[in-house]
Amino acid sequence: MLTVITGGTRGIGAATAHRLARDGHDLVLGYATDDATAEATAVSLRAHGGAVDLVRADVTTDEGVDQLFRRASGLGTVTGLVNNAGATLHIGPLAETMPDVVRRTIDLNLTSAVLCARAAVRLMSRSRGGRGGVVVNVSSGAATLGAPHEYVQYAAAKAGIDALTTGLAIEVAGEGIRVVGVAPGIVRTTIHVDAGEPGRIDRVGPLVPLGRVGEPAEVADAIGWLMSDQASYVTGTTLRVAGGR
Ligand code: NAP
Repeated sequence: MLTVITGGTRGIGAATAHRLARDGHDLVLGYATDDATAEATAVSLRAHGGAVDLVRADVTTDEGVDQLFRRASGLGTVTGLVNNAGATLHIGPLAETMPDVVRRTIDLNLTSAVLCARAAVRLMSRSRGGRGGVVVNVSSGAATLGAPHEYVQYAAAKAGIDALTTGLAIEVAGEGIRVVGVAPGIVRTTIHVDAGEPGRIDRVGPLVPLGRVGEPAEVADAIGWLMSDQASYVTGTTLRVAGGR
């Protein structure tokens, strides 16, 4: 099994990399800029015994997507994609959000993910010489809640991800490819600090029905199951991992 994880070097992506490495996947991890964190993640993953390759490539560019999947296909037969790179970028009402932030948010969280899914199904489709496989799209609970006053543009992009999961799953079912999603609620990563609200985890955690934020490993375990043969009859659906919200 050779699996590409976009944004695989930190947060939910890195936790997923650990889960999949334990499950026997060889990994290609994409990331944007943070070389030091990527190297440290790769070192700890290699302790599981599998191959781990790093590709620094911005998936908001066509060249970045090409570079990531070209490298992966040069390493073996790609059988998995965790379409995970994403960010909220900004917290505030839409009327106070600059147009370029709206565009960058939709570009990263939706357009890039659609293009990565496209690249993956071209490699995995049996009619194109692939072996089939699994695509997991990382959505968000925001896709159905809408994230009012916080980031409706991000929620709109993630709702697009859910439609991608529904439609692409049907389109490639005959190619031996399952397409599934996970929709995390609030999870303990630096995404919240990076968007400008360092205290978000403490503020929102108690409002979650289970009374706390989620941990990256809890999302990673859902992704690991969805990628496994135990989920062989699961496609075209998104699993909410959001503590009851
Ligand atoms: P994170 O900790 O901020 O990690 C983001 C990862 O994506 C990093 O590896 C980063 O690379 C990479 N990345 C960002 N922009 C990129 C680009 N343009 N090209 C390539 N790679 C890029 O994020 P996270 O919190 O784990 O979130 C992972 C996914 O879960 C996202 O899709 C997010 O929307 C979703 N999600 C998160 C939460 C949450 O509460 N954390 C909740 C719901 C959904 P660098 O390290 O180089 O920057």
